[in-house]
Amino acid sequence: MLNVSNLNRIKTQMKDQTLIAVTKYVGDQEVKDLINEGILDLGENRADVFLEKYLRFKDVSIRWHFIGHLQSNKVKKVINLIDYLHSLDRMSLVDAIEKYRNEPLKCLIEVNISQESSKHGMNPENVIEFYQKVKKYDKINVIGLMGMASDTEDRNQIRQQFEILCKLRDQIREIDDIDLKLSMGMSNDYLIAIEMNATYLRLGSILFKEDN
Ligand SMILES: *Cc1c(COP(=O)(O)O)cnc(C)c1O
Repeated sequence: MLNVSNLNRIKTQMKDQTLIAVTKYVGDQEVKDLINEGILDLGENRADVFLEKYLRFKDVSIRWHFIGHLQSNKVKKVINLIDYLHSLDRMSLVDAIEKYRNEPLKCLIEVNISQESSKHGMNPENVIEFYQKVKKYDKINVIGLMGMASDTEDRNQIRQQFEILCKLRDQIREIDDIDLKLSMGMSNDYLIAIEMNATYLRLGSILFKEDN
């Protein structure tokens, strides 16, 4: 069930952010409820589940954000149906997109800011070089950087991890005079992400949990 009071509170807490509602935990009813509330930026992290939802809501002008690890062998199936890819993290994925995508795709480079080996994303040290390389590809339009902070209550640790994205954004601004968007902030840490001027918040569980 959509938690409308949490949604409304988050709307008042946001400054300049765009809320991406992550629908991976929920079904059609919640998607309908989000649409009724005017939330049209939706995020999914698995190709098969995304495809099902895409087909069921294809008559609605949803902006679909693919936020999860995208296997190269799934690219062909989904790549022309999404509006944003938040998980660009390797050259083999770049090549697959270049091959199958019909028009430039808005991409965010996923950075492993928590430095946990279980998480996807590029090592921060490799991001600038990767950015320089992929910007030459026709179908890749790098518009931002994405990161997931550690699942912790330590707010300073989360801040330091988000700061890695801010620094990379600043470095790329020096090189190219473009302002990359930042996709950071989940249910546990979105207030910190707002403080640090995130562009996109990716919120799942907080939108659907029962009041407590
Ligand atoms: C699931 C997921 C989210 C949302 O997480 P919540 O903690 O439920 O808000 C955000 N980003 C990514 C990449 C996810 O996989």
